Amino acid sequence: LEWCVSVPKVELHAHLNGSVRNSTLFELARVLGDKGVIVFSDVENVIMKDDRTLHEVFKLFDLIHILTTDHSTVTRITKEVIEDFAAENVVYLELRTTPKRNDSIGMSKRSYMDAVMEGLRAVSSVDVDYSPAGLKTNTFNGSMRKKMYVRFLLSIDRRESTEAAMETVKLALEMRDLGVVGIDLSGNPIVGNWSTFLPALKFAKEQGLYITLHCGEVPNQEEIKAMIDFLPHRIGHACCFDEENWRKLKSAKIPVEICLTSNIRTETISSIDIHHFVDLYKAKHPLVLCTDDSGVFSTSLSREYNLASSSFGLGKTEMFQLAEIAINFIFADDGVKTDLRATFEEAVKKLN
Ligand code: 5GP
Repeated sequence: LEWCVSVPKVELHAHLNGSVRNSTLFELARVLGDKGVIVFSDVENVIMKDDRTLHEVFKLFDLIHILTTDHSTVTRITKEVIEDFAAENVVYLELRTTPKRNDSIGMSKRSYMDAVMEGLRAVSSVDVDYSPAGLKTNTFNGSMRKKMYVRFLLSIDRRESTEAAMETVKLALEMRDLGVVGIDLSGNPIVGNWSTFLPALKFAKEQGLYITLHCGEVPNQEEIKAMIDFLPHRIGHACCFDEENWRKLKSAKIPVEICLTSNIRTETISSIDIHHFVDLYKAKHPLVLCTDDSGVFSTSLSREYNLASSSFGLGKTEMFQLAEIAINFIFADDGVKTDLRATFEEAVKKLN
């Protein structure tokens, strides 16, 4: 594991509120418990439960939303999550989150994202480059500390309407200078219809935003086919594909974000030995290892690399290549890619 921590890594599939530290969740739950908003012991049991089906995971997300919906909490979680990824040598992070509107506390999708940006600017353990123009960093006193790139993807929740999805896309366009590079479609896969989100996703693509979709978490082959035909820039998971869609995916060469622990914990894949990582890896299909929800699934990107290495018999050379090749699939410009390649070159000298 130590070696996996020391390798520079690229994280492309991390949900902000799914990456929240358990200790932070407990602390928030205790405060709300004291106020009588929730019953702490109920929450404790839900958070402590280790194995959850996909359905139970979404119940937990509803709880996390109750615990995290105020601006200062959003800011705190963002800061902690970025610092946690930086601590394990993630050099480029694409963090995704669903902008939330909550009229009762005066939260708009925009103010939610402003709170996220405030959390990013509060990061103190590492210098963060978050602007596509490279102009905005939180560099402290011109220090030569560790540097990390952070970019944001705004998620459309599958519970949302076409209008709400469109609002998220417009917000992403508005926030391009602040490091928002694309759109994700996520949320409970058995909820909502592809046709509801398509207009907003089409518009986003036309406007030059990058698109990644949660695809094939459940065996809805019709939706999977429509999603591949849309030609997103990446997809997440790709677990429940039939033969035909599998062939389509491979010929379209759409990069796949692989979340091993998440797939196993949610029982989307019954055992790691039959995980589709192996088939995609052997076919040299573009893929990238990711955490999904490091807090909810008690994992980290280093652990995901370690798990892949031990489960699929990959040595250090292969693992390093896997980490480095992920640079090709990031939603940032060539300048960032060049800089990241230099970081990996430096690292390979040190690790050998
Ligand atoms: P947030 O968007 O609130 O920062 O992060 C949590 C949200 O991400 C969840 O409520 C859910 O919509 C989405 N999410 C997290 N993990 C998964 C996953 O494994 N599958 C899908 N489809 N959505 C997820």
